[in-house]
Amino acid sequence: MDNTQTLTDQYPQVKEMMAKKPIFWKNPDYGKSADLPFSKEEIFDAVARWDRFAPFIEAAFPETANMHGIIESPLIRLDKMKQLFNQDHQTAIAGSLFLKADSQLPISGSIKSRGGIYEVLKFAEHVALTKGDLKPTDNYAILRSPKYKQLFAQYGVMVASTGNLALSVGIAASTFGFKTTVYMSRDAKEWKKAKLRASGVNVVELDTDFSSVIPKAREAAAKDDQIHFIDDEGSRDLFIGYAVAGVRLKKQLDDLNIKVDQNHPVVVYLPAGVGGSPSGVTFGLKTIIGENIHAIFCEPTHVPSVTLGMMTKLNNEISVFDIGLDGKTAADGLAVGRPSRIAGKVMRTLLFGSTTFQDPTIYKYEAQLMDTEHITVEPSAAAGFTAIERAITEVPDFNSENATHIVWATGGSMMPESERRVDHAKGEALLKS
Ligand SMILES: *Cc1c(COP(=O)(O)O)cnc(C)c1O
Repeated sequence: MDNTQTLTDQYPQVKEMMAKKPIFWKNPDYGKSADLPFSKEEIFDAVARWDRFAPFIEAAFPETANMHGIIESPLIRLDKMKQLFNQDHQTAIAGSLFLKADSQLPISGSIKSRGGIYEVLKFAEHVALTKGDLKPTDNYAILRSPKYKQLFAQYGVMVASTGNLALSVGIAASTFGFKTTVYMSRDAKEWKKAKLRASGVNVVELDTDFSSVIPKAREAAAKDDQIHFIDDEGSRDLFIGYAVAGVRLKKQLDDLNIKVDQNHPVVVYLPAGVGGSPSGVTFGLKTIIGENIHAIFCEPTHVPSVTLGMMTKLNNEISVFDIGLDGKTAADGLAVGRPSRIAGKVMRTLLFGSTTFQDPTIYKYEAQLMDTEHITVEPSAAAGFTAIERAITEVPDFNSENATHIVWATGGSMMPESERRVDHAKGEALLKS
């Protein structure tokens, strides 16, 4: 991208992004009609697949027993956090505040348990139906038998990840018995690598930044047609796995008698890295819940890759490095300089807008969430809180008493205690300063 002048002329906010200023971008195409490359049927097909696998999951992962093998997170009301937020900010939240605690999802403790595990299930089912003698009406717990383990051992699963996708794919795939390899950059968290190795996963560490890890992994996987590569930059299965959240959240809102209509908007705040998980979730929410639920993406000022791609409509053809940013952030799930091939395109008419934040603020919210609600999330997962003030001040409808704000906490319950304490201290120092 040698023509940043043209870009900044056409999209003045690019200039603010280049200066690393926090921005609020309102999507001019929001709500227009568009042909989407995914359908509602695909979401329900995925829900049915998760249901078929529930007996397998319940048997393989005892922590899912209370949910009978369904992997879902709680929707938690944050009254104390809202009170604290309102003391700290000029504009108070008039509506109610909730946390969608994907940080507590089984297996990876992150939103990646939605997409990553779903893609592994879909691959396992394909192998078992076409190369084994599984029937869709069978109890899928039989996939734990030695016969199927031997079958799965002839196949491989590969993925490249900054951390959480590796955990979800790695643990799920190795549980089936697939030969499982994850590619990570050397700076990925040590405890995640250790956990994967303990599950029998082959962890390949590369001494490069993350953007070159995915191509390396893709290349390795392409050499062997028995290997299924999970592509965080453009997988349809990952996307649909995330979209199932729409069905699940609808039920949770119904159960809490939370209305969603023109006078009762719901605003959902989602951190974006490559853009796959927030886009898949948003597609699910818009498809299942409709026009009165609104999604806002949150990205670091140093890595606003999805925002830049969508604003300029260049999507994955532009990276944050092209506008002179360094792509560095403490929010390691969000440190992706180039967006996914599908996210921005599918989000063109579905995303309300996006915001960017300065790194330190996420530590502040992470610490406040620990202090007020005793909930642990990782830095990336606190990003949603940074967008609320901009949203309620710039969109008056969102600051009605009838509005519901949902911060999507994308990960963190499996973070070791030592790391949790370090993060808390960082947040506390900022709160005192
Ligand atoms: C992966 C991840 C994200 C962002 O998801 P993308 O699909 O990369 O946009 C946000 N938070 C956490 C904790 C994650 O692991």
